[in-house]
Amino acid sequence: MHSFGKLKQYGGLLKIKAINGFKDILPDEVAVWRKVETIARDIFRRFGMQEIRLPILEKTELFARSIGEATDIVEKEMYTFVDKGITMRPEATASLLRAYIEHGLHVRQPVQRLFTIGPMFRHERPQKGRQRQFHQIDVEVIGALEPQVDAELMAMGQLLMTELGLDVSLEINSLGCPKCRPDFRSRLVQYLTERVDGLCEDCRRRTTTNPLRVLDCKKRNCTALVQDAPSILESLCPDCATHFTAVRQQLDALGVSYTPNRFMVRGLDYYTRTTFEFLTADLGAQAAVAAGGRYDGLIQQLGGPKNMPGIGFAMGMERLTLLMQQQSDAAETGGADIFVAALGEPAVQYSAPLVHQLRKLGLQAAMDYSNRSLKAQMKQAGRTQARYTLIIGDQELEQQEGVLRNMENKMQEPFALQGSVEQLGQQLKSVLA
Ligand code: ATP
Ligand code: MG
Repeated sequence: MHSFGKLKQYGGLLKIKAINGFKDILPDEVAVWRKVETIARDIFRRFGMQEIRLPILEKTELFARSIGEATDIVEKEMYTFVDKGITMRPEATASLLRAYIEHGLHVRQPVQRLFTIGPMFRHERPQKGRQRQFHQIDVEVIGALEPQVDAELMAMGQLLMTELGLDVSLEINSLGCPKCRPDFRSRLVQYLTERVDGLCEDCRRRTTTNPLRVLDCKKRNCTALVQDAPSILESLCPDCATHFTAVRQQLDALGVSYTPNRFMVRGLDYYTRTTFEFLTADLGAQAAVAAGGRYDGLIQQLGGPKNMPGIGFAMGMERLTLLMQQQSDAAETGGADIFVAALGEPAVQYSAPLVHQLRKLGLQAAMDYSNRSLKAQMKQAGRTQARYTLIIGDQELEQQEGVLRNMENKMQEPFALQGSVEQLGQQLKSVLA
């Protein structure tokens, strides 16, 4: 039993805590989460995006084949049930494309605009804005290769950030395609190999396994060393270069401000051409609030239709909500419409059906069944932030007249307790309107 020694005792029983990196989202915080989701859903509606809901577990091979074997995610961050060959999704794009292919969604409509919201799982070191279970809002446009679509998606992301009241910047890059990237890759490998002694241990390994990743290593020596590395933007083939120029022109046309960043590469292998990140200065090392890019070869690679392009990005809910909480007006206001303070057992009996009726009518109504003092109940009415309190005691019942108190201006007026519960409900509703 000694292994339980570290756990705190509570009432003689062992207190069980959540797993490191897995967090509860408490009611106060949920208000902010809902605000983000509500605004996001409204924006998605404007851009004609449809929701899709996906399973959390997928075959491990799906992620190995899409994200790439030599990426941090697949190498060391996945929660895998080894004996069952299944993995808790570390991101949404692979699952979404799996569903897209499996159900032949392209047959229904050549261009699919989809979004999904839910938890993702990665075994990373937990920090502020970095958890092992985290949540993403993921958006994908499948079947369109026009650069206008890249710009439209980034414009949508920027509009969302603006409507959330967040100050973020947009950085963009192009990672080329299977035609031009291999050449850039070998030029980069040559450059890095000549300087391998100056790189951190991870980047020495990456020089052979995943050299592009060295470009966005956050260690100071590596950052300094890659400053003079060949630029991918100068290695793009004519098609990729034209695409990137058109993306930039379209961003300008839509009034979206951005900064090109040739060092930005993504931690997933499937990206081609446009990649982008929305960054904040307010979350320390966890600067990326949202990130994504184009993945023109991925659908075919997963067994889907040939030459089917796609582009998407994912926003991190934890990071968005942390930023929102730093703003003062983020919390949802608005408490109960009415609190019924019932004094005495008969009043409690009388009031419960009335409260239920008010709820049926769409009002947020509250009461307390424990028959406490008026003072205690008024205090509770204050805690529920009720706009009105209806006071009903023995005397009020007898005289068929309650007291309706406006909690804001403290004015009280009589409220007749005559008629059916339906009638009373309607009368209260019109007073509160
Ligand atoms: P980072 O560079 O911060 O590790 P990433 O490149 O791994 O991010 P993506 O896989 O592109 O991130 O996921 C998109 C977004 O999801 C990120 O921009 C971030 O907001 C969020 N995100 C990713 N990993 C985590 C995590 N472990 N905890 C919380 N949010 C995360
Ligand atoms: Mg990461």
